[in-house]
Amino acid sequence: MAYDKENIFAKIIRGEIPAAKIYEDDDVLAFEDISKAAPVHVLVVPKGDFVSFDDFAKSGADKVANFFAKVQKIAADLGLVENGYRLITNHGADASQSVAHFHVHILGGRELGGLLDDDEKIR
Ligand code: AMP
Repeated sequence: MAYDKENIFAKIIRGEIPAAKIYEDDDVLAFEDISKAAPVHVLVVPKGDFVSFDDFAKSGADKVANFFAKVQKIAADLGLVENGYRLITNHGADASQSVAHFHVHILGGRELGGLLDDDEKIR
């Protein structure tokens, strides 16, 4: 899938629409999810044109390592290390990816339960 520069996270990165930013540098932006699934629900996005994990993962080992080091630091700065947190990234239709700009969800602040909702288990 080609990258669409008009996706909502690209607009947030460009400052065209607002977001509750919690961290930003030259490579990465982190902001609160607009529809929280947990008391802490932060999205971390790279500033490059990546549709999903599938193409981001092929962008180079240094870029990938740098990105995930920042995800770790953001989770730590959010105070989540002691009690725990979950990372989620959705790629494509079966994962219900709804925004076609690679992003990692950081979820925490409560006991998160099982990996998937019961009705999403293998049928
Ligand atoms: P995914 O389903 O993995 O693509 O996740 C996309 C996430 O983006 C969802 O959790 C949405 O609630 C979130 N989202 C969509 N629009 C915005 C926005 N304008 N600001 C912050 N989060 C958003």
